[in-house]
Amino acid sequence: MEDNFIHKGKRRQLVQLMREEGIQDQVVLDAINRVPRHLFLDSSFLEHAYKNKAFPIGADQTISHPFTVAFQSELLQALPGDKVLEIGTGSGYQCAVLLEMKLQVYTIERQNQLFKSTGKLFNKLKYRPRKFVFGDGYQGLPQEAPFDSIIVTCGAESIPQQLLLQLKIGGRLVIPVGQDPQIMTLIVRKSETEFTKKTYGEFRFVPFLGGKE
Ligand code: SAH
Repeated sequence: MEDNFIHKGKRRQLVQLMREEGIQDQVVLDAINRVPRHLFLDSSFLEHAYKNKAFPIGADQTISHPFTVAFQSELLQALPGDKVLEIGTGSGYQCAVLLEMKLQVYTIERQNQLFKSTGKLFNKLKYRPRKFVFGDGYQGLPQEAPFDSIIVTCGAESIPQQLLLQLKIGGRLVIPVGQDPQIMTLIVRKSETEFTKKTYGEFRFVPFLGGKE
């Protein structure tokens, strides 16, 4: 579980790349700079950990590109202490970035194999989400709602209504919607019944499974 000066140097370069690609939020960039991304990948991918690429993490899933993680994190416009729900824990990398942003993170994963291995990694690295839940994120986490924001890290065919209802007024849902590619979508809850929607271009995610399956 080494994090040496070479890793740290590569991370600084990655942060510079994120800046050049348009990420401006310093809190997000600082968080990317602190999370040892190489420890969230299989060791065989070590040398690639700090390229802007997605990689397999087991169970047919992938860790998101660093740019995608930074982009979604920036769209949350979160403040320290905000309560955030993540759907699709996967490798735990995005969750670690949110924790480094000083957010209270609730995160859900539906693949048992990943749930177990990522749970062990969180313990080793001392990353402590508020709750790490094994289950179907399609339903959100009604018992812990409302949330300041919700981030979905798998591609959804449509926007699950249950997630919208678990946002605080003023809360933000960041979700990639559609089938390959997905359109990054930001929904803001304006009142009990009103929501606004903005879109931010194409991304590629593994599918959001659940609901019907
Ligand atoms: N945030 C992750 C991205 C992993 S890929 C990271 O940083 O590595 C997306 C993840 O969403 C996969 O692990 C997949 O198993 C999970 N997923 C897909 N559908 C889900 C659902 N309905 N509920 C919870 N997790 C889901």
